[in-house]
Amino acid sequence: MTSLEEFRLATRSWLKENCPDGVRGPGPVAGGGSKVPIDADSALWLERCTQRGWTVPIWPTDYGGAGLSMDKYLILLDEMQRIKARPPLAGQGVAMIGPTLLEYGSEEQKLRHLPKIANGEVRWCQGYSEPGAGSDLASLQTRALLEGEQFVISGQKIWTSGAQHADWMFCLVRTDTKVPKHEGISLLLLPMDQPGVTVRPIKLISGDAFFCETFFDDAIARREDLIGQLNRGWTISKRLLQHERSGISILARGTTKPDPLALQKLFKQFRHDTDHDLLDRISRFEMRKRAFRLTQSRTIAESDDGQTPGPQSSIFEPCAANLEKEEADIKAQTIGMNGLGWEGNGFAASEINMTRQWLSTKRRTIARGTDEIQRNIIAKRVLGLPG
Ligand SMILES: Cc1cc2nc3c(=O)[nH]c(=O)nc-3n(C[C@H](O)[C@H](O)[C@H](O)COP(=O)(O)OP(=O)(O)OC[C@H]3O[C@@H](n4cnc5c(N)ncnc54)[C@H](O)[C@@H]3O)c2cc1C
Repeated sequence: MTSLEEFRLATRSWLKENCPDGVRGPGPVAGGGSKVPIDADSALWLERCTQRGWTVPIWPTDYGGAGLSMDKYLILLDEMQRIKARPPLAGQGVAMIGPTLLEYGSEEQKLRHLPKIANGEVRWCQGYSEPGAGSDLASLQTRALLEGEQFVISGQKIWTSGAQHADWMFCLVRTDTKVPKHEGISLLLLPMDQPGVTVRPIKLISGDAFFCETFFDDAIARREDLIGQLNRGWTISKRLLQHERSGISILARGTTKPDPLALQKLFKQFRHDTDHDLLDRISRFEMRKRAFRLTQSRTIAESDDGQTPGPQSSIFEPCAANLEKEEADIKAQTIGMNGLGWEGNGFAASEINMTRQWLSTKRRTIARGTDEIQRNIIAKRVLGLPG
């Protein structure tokens, strides 16, 4: 038996013993920190995986990972998928700032922050967008002045997902106003629970309020929490976005395999006709979705270390976003009038939930960079077209 086969058997048996029933199948995933309560099974799952380094399996063991090779990591994901195990931990710590710190952080910064990300102790949020700086992010105006051993920050961020639950923020700030805009930006880490930070949740069309406006009035970040060099944050911030939009984190999110017949079942439940156009749309959608998942797995398997997203992985985010929107549209078309319920007795809870999910998917081609911006990136960096 090869070492990979042995690893698969050992993993299968460990998961059988240790993965609680409550984290199998669709459901919530721990996002870190202590401000959002999690159920007992999710907490147990997080604790057990943390002990094995399996919240961030390919990170080095010094920083809370398991140091798994790519081959072993793919086997672990496969075995988790087999039993429909949800990931033990998700969020901007493991998916965004963690991989970025691995690449750009000093040894001291890695040891200080990464283990607390890996064990889910700290929840993170992303302070990039501002009212005048979204797609044109480099126009950001939030100022940070270095005063002795600390930065003093003033300004405003917007659309900060989960800021109301976060313990720390990774934040892009302007540290030099006299140079071209890309050259005066720095990346800072700062604690959210301090007098200079105010968070105001924004209510969405779906009824949720998961992102916020964040205001800084002389908020403090320690000098030792500057990532990389002063005024050289732009390159690092783009790299962080690559981690957000592609590669390993998206693959890890997919450990619960969706039911491939879910849309057909929905059709049988709600439609008593034979709408061939709709059935055709469902089949075409299922084929595209399957092709996408296979492309994702192949791209990750071909990457050297699983950490470094290749340029072709830029297609992941826009494809995933558009597939999610299409799926929600198909569901709405399938259930017809029942899919338009907002509240009240005329609709089942599952129908109301579906309406909210449908509305909620509208954000998918805006968050993490709009569809147009993603296509610009693919045109320039993947296809080599003139900018
Ligand atoms: C659900 C959600 C969660 C988010 N979470 C966060 C978060 O946690 N942290 C954070 O910092 N930000 C977050 N954002 C903000 C997100 O990154 C921005 O909304 C996004 O970058 C677009 O910026 P904007 O909203 O200012 O739109 P704009 O940049 O004003 O764009 C408006 C329109 O113009 C188009 N456009 C702009 N420039 C170009 C161009 N060069 N070529 C072609 N078309 C162009 C855009 O595609 C868009 O259609 C979130 C957004 C959403 C919807």
